[in-house]
Amino acid sequence: MTIRLAILPLLLALNFSMCKRNPSPTASSEPATSSPTPAEATAGGSPGPGVAGAASAPKITKPVVDQTAQTLIFCYHRLVDKIRYPGTEITPTAFEAEMKQLKDAGITVISLQDLLAWKRGEKNIPPRCAVITFDDGWKSQYEVAWPIMKKFGYPFTMFIYTEGVRGGSLGGGEAITWEQLADMRDNGVDIQAHTATHQDLREGHNIMLAAPGGKRTKTKLTGPQYEEWLQKEVVGCKQLLEQRLGIKVNCFAVPFGSYNEHVKEIARNAGYEAMFTVYGQPITFTSPNDSLGRYAIEANKPKVFVDAVKMIGTSSAGATAVAEVGATNLSTQPADGDTVRTALPLIKANLSGVGAIEPGSVQMRVSGLGVVPVSYDPKTGTVSYQVTQKLRENSCTVIVSAKSEGKKVEAHWTFGIDAAAAGAPVSAPTPKK
Ligand SMILES: [Zn+2]
Repeated sequence: MTIRLAILPLLLALNFSMCKRNPSPTASSEPATSSPTPAEATAGGSPGPGVAGAASAPKITKPVVDQTAQTLIFCYHRLVDKIRYPGTEITPTAFEAEMKQLKDAGITVISLQDLLAWKRGEKNIPPRCAVITFDDGWKSQYEVAWPIMKKFGYPFTMFIYTEGVRGGSLGGGEAITWEQLADMRDNGVDIQAHTATHQDLREGHNIMLAAPGGKRTKTKLTGPQYEEWLQKEVVGCKQLLEQRLGIKVNCFAVPFGSYNEHVKEIARNAGYEAMFTVYGQPITFTSPNDSLGRYAIEANKPKVFVDAVKMIGTSSAGATAVAEVGATNLSTQPADGDTVRTALPLIKANLSGVGAIEPGSVQMRVSGLGVVPVSYDPKTGTVSYQVTQKLRENSCTVIVSAKSEGKKVEAHWTFGIDAAAAGAPVSAPTPKK
């Protein structure tokens, strides 16, 4: 223990001096932000238009995720009984009440990593979710917030600025310690980066530099000096967290939400998969990962929380919710965007990745034909229809819907028909896009 403590300052010093000598970001061996390309999604999937009627069902390589799900990300700071700084504090009672409100509103608290896995198309999440994050690394997050989160069984993420951890140049008596962070890590808490010294990261802005002796100077950095400092803030912070805690850091919360394209680029190159601001908004499947908005919850603005919950809490009340699933996930045949050389194609989709399908609920609509009598094989999840009446248009839209776990899911796609090959008179071709 004493040895560990003794080498601590050394590690810290080493880490930052390494950054100084090596200003280029560590090449990203880690996966950068990625969304599945259509090629990936169909790879190993549909047998292609030439093999109509092939016996084996197409393989589903990824689960079909509900792309209509929405997530609120909340950001909290200190939990204190007596509010002195209402901009960053909340009482434990008010915090606990909000955690309960999420439950009462039917909003599922999921982990930040599950949210990202869903955005990668790797994992499904419930239709309405929330992610809870705590910023800066206050000890009240360990002592007060964590027990409340345990009570609800909610996962959460800590965004830490490393010089603010106790023992760091900015870590005072109210700061969390590395030992407490290690305890959280051992119990499944997600720990992520929030820079080294928590300042505006844009070039030319006033920043404060702390000299080793503790002397602080206000300055503006530009050019190579700024770049060196930025590396420490964005890359050094990630490296220190990863080395001290033996974790993988893939998320970056930007202090005050103050950043620009250059800061984003540095963060992307460092291997961050997602970046977070404080401009709260419901996160959808297509929200860009480099600017995910969080709702900062403060004691003097209780309406922020209430309004956020309203944004998604009531959206599906009343009308039946329909979850749209991507056609590429269903290994459709013909594939979305393909052109076939027959006016009598075999139309197929594989629903096995959607979940438990109620067999009687499977329906297919074909443009120009309406609802068609499909055959559905519950064993393979394949729904198919052999067109028996020549399709007259040069493009055809298919809508497949089904009920899964009481919920309606729907996918639609469009393929083209090569008029000449089809050998049938078709309507005038539409201009090329
Ligand atoms: Zn912060």
